[in-house]
Amino acid sequence: MARALLVVDVQNDFTEGGALAVTGGAALAERITAFLGRHGDEYDLIVASRDWHHGDDDNGGHFAGAEGPDFIDTWPVHCVAGTPGADYHPELDTALIDIDVFKGQGTPDYSAFQGRTEAGVPLPEVLAEHRVHTIDIVGIATDHCVRASALDARAAGLDVAVYEDLVAGVDDDRSTAALDEIRVAGGHVDHSDMDEGLANPGGARL
Ligand SMILES: [Zn+2]
Repeated sequence: MARALLVVDVQNDFTEGGALAVTGGAALAERITAFLGRHGDEYDLIVASRDWHHGDDDNGGHFAGAEGPDFIDTWPVHCVAGTPGADYHPELDTALIDIDVFKGQGTPDYSAFQGRTEAGVPLPEVLAEHRVHTIDIVGIATDHCVRASALDARAAGLDVAVYEDLVAGVDDDRSTAALDEIRVAGGHVDHSDMDEGLANPGGARL
């Protein structure tokens, strides 16, 4: 019985100044790094996902055409593989990350469970190999990739917790609805202890 942490899409394009900036993204990167410093050794496996799109096609309709993005199903060009926008945010300390997962290569993947390692191993297989039964999820964006990852984790039979103070969303109402949906699916929505013992907690709030 192993316990994993999944850090979803803490990438430059999803933080302030990026192509698809989520408010609070940069502060969240810092806060997740602080969380890793405090709790990293409690996890058997730490996985981080990245949106990793093709730059020469619309990734299955994921990138908006001439009509512009609707910010629900179609998006501005973002996280093109190998570009600075697809890099982890510099405030995210990647030293403790055991497994990097890439998703969205030509497809509109939201869930990290659709992703694969660089060697091509699907995330569900990686988790099964490590006998992961419990997964905590943090990252960006609450209403999209965190939501989809948490629901897929539940569908895979894992015990799932999302830390509501360690996620950031595109839209407040949709983010609240996403956390409700995760609860209905049997996931836990918890608050981390990162506000305890910090003079200026900061971070992203829904
Ligand atoms: Zn994407």
